[in-house]
Amino acid sequence: SQQTSKIEELRELDKKHYLHPTSPIGAQQEHGPAFIFTKGEGIYLTDMSGQKVIDGMSSLWNVNIGHGRNEISEVASKQMSTLAFSSSFATFSNEPAIRLSAKLAEIAPGDLTATFFTSGGSESNDTAYKLARHYWILKGEPKRKKIISRTHSYHGVAMGATSATGIQAFRDFTNSLAPDFHYADHMSPESLRQVIESEGPETVAAFISEPVQGAGGLHIATKEYFKAVREICDEYGILFITDEVITGFGRTGTYFGMDHYDVAPDMMCFAKGVTSGYAQLGGVMISSRMHEDFTKLSTGTLLHGYTYSGHPVACAVALRNLEIIERENLIANSSQMGEELLNGFINLQASFESIGDVRALGLMGAIEFMKDKEKEERFPQPLAPMVVTEAAKRGLILRSVVFNGQDTLVFSPPLIITKEQINDMMSILHEAIKAVE
Ligand code: PLP
Repeated sequence: SQQTSKIEELRELDKKHYLHPTSPIGAQQEHGPAFIFTKGEGIYLTDMSGQKVIDGMSSLWNVNIGHGRNEISEVASKQMSTLAFSSSFATFSNEPAIRLSAKLAEIAPGDLTATFFTSGGSESNDTAYKLARHYWILKGEPKRKKIISRTHSYHGVAMGATSATGIQAFRDFTNSLAPDFHYADHMSPESLRQVIESEGPETVAAFISEPVQGAGGLHIATKEYFKAVREICDEYGILFITDEVITGFGRTGTYFGMDHYDVAPDMMCFAKGVTSGYAQLGGVMISSRMHEDFTKLSTGTLLHGYTYSGHPVACAVALRNLEIIERENLIANSSQMGEELLNGFINLQASFESIGDVRALGLMGAIEFMKDKEKEERFPQPLAPMVVTEAAKRGLILRSVVFNGQDTLVFSPPLIITKEQINDMMSILHEAIKAVE
């Protein structure tokens, strides 16, 4: 039929011309795209052949309000037809960017009050490192330039963001990285102290951490961990940056991941859920103390800015997205459905020998496979990637993490998900695990 030949045509063009981000390039070339999506609605995506699947990852942990919201496309269309773009450099401004920065100050943890806008998470991370370093120049401590991050962390793919990323495989992808990045063990505050001591506290600008590590395998820190981190940073006068790119805007059942820990960061990176993916936007927030210092000490120009910093359409979309999150109580739903998700995992754990640890915080969850739980022995061939394939065949999109010997399935469904839909996910998952075990 016409549709079949159109799909074939697109598959061939994709193979020939489309270099996919973070993709298995050989397999992509051989098989072409697994899905060519044409429509999104709620928690579902539909591809060209008409197959409808559950978007169990909110695509890239970002479509928090779900797909297909006309309300958002109307806001974007209206903004585009009145003011599609204008500069935010120097003293130029626009209403959506102003209102969004004020809204963010209202909802952000601690006393984060001022926002620098970017187009995504990687740009936000590089911005945070540069602002932290510039801050120390202004404060008369220019030697403070080192950035410490955690093993298993993911901060993006710009040069600074990759250099901060604690997953070795991402750093090994290129043969030269940004200097002055160091790593502490992801669960040990003592390790952070050791790295600070061995590098020299007077040379350390900032420590950066995700509240819950996402791409690195969904690692949830204890309450004590971040409390100790905050104390160590204060002791040595080091800035604490939280990377809320995934955990922001309701993902973990609170507005921000740090809200679980009652710890106030000095800076915060965000992206993804701020627009639920309806437009490209990210940013970095700084504390009122840092903002005052910048204002007081800076005599020149803040020489950092992206063309699309403060994009009026993206900011208008973000404002409406946050309105929807609040109006529909999606943060409370994330918390409640997160418990359902974890219960679902626990039920699966009872059915399958191969499931080791299960965990979730709000709608960010993981299942780890283990050959022998007592001996902590893994399967020679990780199960998680095979389960992902089997689940996709049955209509559920998930992701696996196999870095550093892990064998983990991760989950991050839209915050609108219902109990029935979680049950649907668990039934598919049950069949998918049965198929590979
Ligand atoms: N930081 C974290 C915690 C992320 O999970 C990601 C992306 O997954 C990034 C930063 C990078 O964001 P982006 O892909 O928008 O550049």
